[in-house]
Amino acid sequence: MTNSQSTPGIVPNRLSGDAYGDNFSDLHPPLNDHEALVAADRCYFCHDAPCMEACPTTIDIPLFIRQIATGTPEAAAKTILNQNILGGMCARVCPTETLCEEVCVRETAEGKPVVIGELQRYATDKAMGAHPFTRAASTGKSVAVVGAGPAGLSAAHRLAMHGHDVVIYDARPKAGGLNEFGIASYKSTNDFAAREVEWLLSIGGITVKLGQALGNGLTLDKLSADHDAVFLGMGLAGVNALGVEGDDKDGVLDAVDFISDLRQASDLSTLPVGRHVVVIGGGMTAVDAAVQAKLLGAEDVALVYRRGRDRMGASKFEQDLAASKGVRIITHASPKAVHGNGAVREVEFAYTADGADGLAETGEVFRLPADQVFKAIGQTLGDGQGLELEGRKISISMTGRTSRAGVWAGGDCASGGDDLTVTAVAEGRDAAEDIHATLMGEG
Ligand SMILES: Cc1cc2nc3c(=O)[nH]c(=O)nc-3n(C[C@H](O)[C@H](O)[C@H](O)COP(=O)(O)OP(=O)(O)OC[C@H]3O[C@@H](n4cnc5c(N)ncnc54)[C@H](O)[C@@H]3O)c2cc1C
Ligand code: SF4
Repeated sequence: MTNSQSTPGIVPNRLSGDAYGDNFSDLHPPLNDHEALVAADRCYFCHDAPCMEACPTTIDIPLFIRQIATGTPEAAAKTILNQNILGGMCARVCPTETLCEEVCVRETAEGKPVVIGELQRYATDKAMGAHPFTRAASTGKSVAVVGAGPAGLSAAHRLAMHGHDVVIYDARPKAGGLNEFGIASYKSTNDFAAREVEWLLSIGGITVKLGQALGNGLTLDKLSADHDAVFLGMGLAGVNALGVEGDDKDGVLDAVDFISDLRQASDLSTLPVGRHVVVIGGGMTAVDAAVQAKLLGAEDVALVYRRGRDRMGASKFEQDLAASKGVRIITHASPKAVHGNGAVREVEFAYTADGADGLAETGEVFRLPADQVFKAIGQTLGDGQGLELEGRKISISMTGRTSRAGVWAGGDCASGGDDLTVTAVAEGRDAAEDIHATLMGEG
């Protein structure tokens, strides 16, 4: 039986067959050759380019755009990949509107930046065949990398390029980290995450061991004994709890798990989704869960955030995307209780206001109908492995050194940074350079 958007409860198959393909198609279809030349032509090739400064991996943006403009996209790809080996994924997922494109001089002058992200995708897509880099002669050194997400993959690639033997250990059955299990489907279509991992590994010298979790049979002592150095890029495995009455009712789920199931589904019509969906949170995860619930056919989706829109972690572009897909964004409201008999039926919220002593409830409450609630109020580090922490993350130096000699860390699990794919790539790369210098006696 086919369900509809108004079928009560949490059910699959709310849409007609074609709608799933249309809803989850590429958010930004790739530029063709002509479009890329026209877009590249808008660049002023600035000296001391602000776009380059704003890129966490410091890609030479004017250079790669000039290489596209002169008809050498493969050279452009190498310029990008030299700084950011996951330049293909970053071209798809970077919030460019708050990074390079925000500071582009054509944005400042005309409100219309050079489309740097789309040009980066154009160039890197051309390089997805033969691997553009080769390994240095073997150093005989071995490095353990924990986590096959952007930080771990970036570190592993750079270390392999320098001639070290790398073993990546990952708890999951598939490599890629949140590129594979977290990024919204419409940002990374056609199994791009898996194809990019395969391409990255084709440099050689990297062994990937899946289903191997640090803290579950694998210890830091053992890794340190078996390898010359260890890099930890294990992301944030824990999820914050709502901490309100009734938050354990059926239908209350972690947004990250919902997104992960969606990313791994071979047939989206089989995924059950609620008629009335409430998402709690204000970051990228909240927006991605809300938008994808709507695209799966939920009748109404409300995203509820406790502060104002200007404080949301999701960029204005992401907020507008959510609104354009029919997600209702409610701000200044904080969850008070989840109601229902076994399964969730309603969520109660209190209105909030910013006061002298921080955020406070105004005393007014309201309820939203819900048969599915997604919690997206932040992720936390799992096991800190006894390393010194800063805040709730592993404390690291500028080059990723932790409090334990021979152990580096980077990406979401490490202090500093801003929980973006591109930052994880930069931190993995920089830690790898420091590990290399240390192992070769130069650090
Ligand atoms: C839903 C969602 C959407 C996002 N969307 C965007 C976006 O659009 N743009 C953007 O820039 N950023 C986005 N981000 C953030 C981005 O995905 C992360 O910043 C980035 O993936 C961090 O990379 P990482 O390598 O540090 O960690 P992860 O990608 O989390 O990878 C960590 C890896 O370590 C493994 N692991 C964990 N614990 C262990 C253990 N004990 N032993 C062995 N292996 C372990 C995991 O299985 C995983 O493969 C999003 C995040 C989420 C949750
Ligand atoms: S700031 Fe804009 S115009 Fe200047 S180099 Fe960067 S992309 Fe080109």
